[in-house]
Amino acid sequence: MTGPDRDGWRDRAACARPGVDPEAFYPLDLDPGGPAVMAARRVCGACPVRALCLLDVMASEDPARRWGVIAGLTPDERTDLHRDQLIPLPGVGVAA
Ligand code: SF4
Repeated sequence: MTGPDRDGWRDRAACARPGVDPEAFYPLDLDPGGPAVMAARRVCGACPVRALCLLDVMASEDPARRWGVIAGLTPDERTDLHRDQLIPLPGVGVAA
């Protein structure tokens, strides 16, 4: 998780529950189908605030410093998502 939590959603995060190891979201092996990433994805997949987490990370994460599994996505997947949401504005010729 990143950025300030103005709405308190982090209190409801699955990764903040007792017994969940925060290190599990920062595995050395970021193979998207590997056991470490899949273990983190399972926690995120059952998280009630995943959408808020995803919005937060996409808005606040430094693209040069992406690391870990956040909102169930690896750094490469977040890079792809960030790139793919760039939509050209008609008549302007730049991405928004
Ligand atoms: S989606 Fe994953 S990283 Fe985000 S708050 Fe939930 S458990 Fe934590």
